[in-house]
Parts: sequence; structure tokens; C-alpha cells
Amino acid sequence: MTTKTLAIANQKGGVAKTTTVASLGAALAELGHRVLIVDLDPQACLTFSLGIDPEDLELSVHHVLTKGLDATEVIIETEDGVDLLPATIELARAEADLLTRTGREYVVRASLEELTDYDWILLDCPPSLGVLTVAALTAATGVLIPLQCETLSHRGVGQLLDTVHDVRRFTNRELEVWGVLPTLFDGRTNHARAVLETISETYDLEVVEPPIPKSIRFAEAPAAGRSILSTTRSHRGADAYRDVAVNLTKRAASAT
Ligand code: ADP
Ligand code: MG
Repeated sequence: MTTKTLAIANQKGGVAKTTTVASLGAALAELGHRVLIVDLDPQACLTFSLGIDPEDLELSVHHVLTKGLDATEVIIETEDGVDLLPATIELARAEADLLTRTGREYVVRASLEELTDYDWILLDCPPSLGVLTVAALTAATGVLIPLQCETLSHRGVGQLLDTVHDVRRFTNRELEVWGVLPTLFDGRTNHARAVLETISETYDLEVVEPPIPKSIRFAEAPAAGRSILSTTRSHRGADAYRDVAVNLTKRAASAT
């Protein structure tokens, strides 16, 4: 299988981008896939959540993006069975530096080009539509949009899709929208279902199944330095991500 690079993007914070990257990465690794997850958020929450203190790192993704260091020199193996390209707060400076650099949209793509051994590369985007998100979309085969199904959550989706449209036009023709992933889903309310339907119809978006249920376990996992899949054998939240992983794998197989 050729590498599938998925950008997990939504400029809204708190919609479970980082949780999705960590959990989906672990779920794909459980299926025997080789997975790299990339922290592209200067807050470094993904790095933290896998038990790595960014302050202890000498090298991180910003050295790769702005100093031309080989990604293989920075990648760390995690206990979750996935490899991690970690971030530190220095990424915020990298973002500022990139603003004046030629080819900035291509820095992520160029940094990942040599990494042909992975089946999946998942990009954890920051909560903005800035240069790092555009660079992630430029490097990606597909974009997956985690969405908390509440009223007004669709307001950002149009903007994100405009950005995707620009990326397809100018920097990455191959980019495909893989769909929205309902997160923090409260299936007990009809409201969540209704919002989801409105959004998928309004923007003609596929909905990736199954929705990820709201569960306190997700908030506890990062403190353990492992994803929810490793801290709990069977749990409806972890199992939802396992099912999403199977569905994405099917989609990847039918696309190639
Ligand atoms: P983002 O990366 O989009 O900002 P995070 O993945 O950091 O979002 O999630 C935001 C918060 O929501 C975190 O505290 C996380 O633990 C929590 N969270 C994520 N998914 C769920 C879920 N399914 N149920 C309950 N809490 C969740
Ligand atoms: Mg995040």
C-alpha cells in the first residue's frame, strides 16, 4: 500500500483532533499497519499525551520544517506502537519564520517525502487555518474533519472547505475530503444527529462511521501518557476508533 497521509483538521479547538490522531493511530497500529503521527500544533498536546515532555526534547518537528533536518533523526517510537514526530513550543517560532519563506506550503510535504515505510501518516493540525494547516493539507492525500455536533459547529466548516478548495487549486490537486468524523457525540440526544445531518447535507460531506461517543475516559488517557486504546482493553470510545480505523482502511484499499 502506498502511504496514505491524512490531515486531521478543523480550525476550531477542542473538537478532538489530537485525540483522534492518537487513538486512530493506535487503532491502525493494532491492525498491523505502520503508522507515523505528526504533531503540527505548537501547543504540543499530542506529544504530551503520549508521555513525552516537550521540554526534554532536543530535536523536534520545527528542526525538520525550518532547518532541513531529516525527519528520521527526530522521530520517536512510542509505547502505543506508533512513531511520533514530536513538537515543542518552538514550532510557534517556526510558523512565524515560515511566513516569509518561499515554498512554505510545501515544507511538510518535502519533510515527509522520504518516509516511504509507513502505511499511514496522520497530521495533527493546529486550531487555525494558518501556514501549518495549509502545509499539512498540501502534504495530505485526504483530510478528515472531526466535528462536535452542536449548533453553530458548522460555521467553521465552510471556511475550512474554502481553504481545502484553494489548496486543491494551487498546491495539491490530489487532496480529497474523506469526510467528517462526529466526535464528543451524545447519541442520547436527537439534536446531535440533526446537526450532523444538516452539516453533511449543506456541504455535501461524507460522514465517517461510527460517531465517537463522549466519554470521560478520553480526558484521563493523556495523563497516563498513552492513548485510550492502550489504557483500556475494551471500551466503547476505544472500540469506536477501532471501527473507524477498519472503515478508513477499506476506503484506502478501494482507492488504490
Ligand atoms: P483538539 O485537538 O481539537 O483541540 P483534543 O483532542 O485536545 O481537541 O480534545 C479536547 C478535549 O476533549 C480534551 O480534553 C480531550 O481529552 C477531550 N475529548 C476528546 N474526545 C473526547 C470524547 N470522545 N469524550 C470526552 N472527551 C473527549
Ligand atoms: Mg489539538
